[in-house]
Amino acid sequence: MVKTEKNRIREYFYQKSMKSNWKDWAWQLRHAIRTVEKFEELTGIVFSDDERKLLEMTTERFPVSITPYYLSLIDIDNYKNDPVFKQAFPDKRELEILKNDMSDPLSEDADSPVEGITHRYPDRVLFHISNICSMYCRHCTRKRKVGDIDSIPERESILKGIEYIRDNKQIRDVLLSGGDPFMLSDNYLDWILSGISSIEHVEVIRIGTRMPVVLPFRITDSLVAILKKYKNLWINTHFNHPKEITEASREAVAKLAEAGIPLGNQSVLLRDVNDCPRIIKKLCQMLVKNRVRPYYLYQCDLSEGLNHFRTSVGKGVEIIENMIGHTSGFCVPTYVVDAPGGGGKIPVLPNYLISWSSNKIVLRNYEGVISTYSEPRSYHTSYCDNNCRDCRLDFSENWKKHMDSVGIERLLCEYDKANTLIPGNNPRFKRREENDG
Ligand SMILES: *Cc1c(COP(=O)(O)O)cnc(C)c1O
Repeated sequence: MVKTEKNRIREYFYQKSMKSNWKDWAWQLRHAIRTVEKFEELTGIVFSDDERKLLEMTTERFPVSITPYYLSLIDIDNYKNDPVFKQAFPDKRELEILKNDMSDPLSEDADSPVEGITHRYPDRVLFHISNICSMYCRHCTRKRKVGDIDSIPERESILKGIEYIRDNKQIRDVLLSGGDPFMLSDNYLDWILSGISSIEHVEVIRIGTRMPVVLPFRITDSLVAILKKYKNLWINTHFNHPKEITEASREAVAKLAEAGIPLGNQSVLLRDVNDCPRIIKKLCQMLVKNRVRPYYLYQCDLSEGLNHFRTSVGKGVEIIENMIGHTSGFCVPTYVVDAPGGGGKIPVLPNYLISWSSNKIVLRNYEGVISTYSEPRSYHTSYCDNNCRDCRLDFSENWKKHMDSVGIERLLCEYDKANTLIPGNNPRFKRREENDG
């Protein structure tokens, strides 16, 4: 075998501990690289005193943690261009806070009814059950929160979240996130999962974790045995670059897939890491090959300290243009901008609809071939009064009881008189109110 730098790091750890420890996730956590100094010691990379000082200022603000496994993926000879290095190692540009940057761009705190829960969408919640990770992504949208000491919530605090979910019957989907939920012990996670799954109206539980990417050995047989008990569990992971798909990470996702757990992937579009159609396409094809369905591709958020990672939105559209039609439909993630202020994820797509007339639409495909689709001469649906029981379509559920239409859906429906959506503080409508009053 060629003696690459990669092996040198691994050997260092092998010498320091018993050989079998490399695949022990607790060992990996105990030996996570948490200082610039340790990084220098292990890699042989040396920073100047000025550089080191700035890096240390950065890690004071935003903590660093790199598992030995993830560190071993870095190409030391070319570390400055290495996608793993860029995602894991601090950069002094994280201290540049721009005018538009926000500490909580997604207003997760403002939309939080009880500690740990973000309730943004009608039927699902985000439940933060950990503030720690084995590896701190430099591009983390929750940079403000992660790495706090003592930040796995106590049972008491978790119970408050579970109570909120129990009290709100419209919640049918609970997304466990953090930090990384797999930083919890197997037993604690099992306790949380069983608490949530005992709620009758919860139909789906999801876990968002980066462990298969940064610490694949966390996916142990005993963890999988616990997860396997929950038949409505989905897992989303976070691969950003083909380089992260290794023998170990493939094994980790295979274990989950073989336990029958559907797997998705959420990538973040990152400047100089994966902002290239070929890289994302290759990544997504490799994920599908490993039974992981690309779910979202995120535009990088406006969180503080992420400026150097952001791309234009046009780059994201270009990537999707390079994928739809060119490769399998289920290789293509949905490209989304998570709207600042808590607007939620908004999909952004290339335009395929070129024009339309009263009964024809003109479309273009990925090759640029322009086609028409003739719509039916007449198409009438019966009047919808939101009463499914008496509808000729066979769907005997009375949604009226618990579903109010929202937003554009409301403008389109026939049973609600609303015909405009007016932004708050619109001066013209304010004047109207004043005139009326
Ligand atoms: C992303 C997110 C969800 C889940 O959204 P999906 O589009 O259903 O995956 C739920 N709540 C919050 C606050 C989110 O940010």
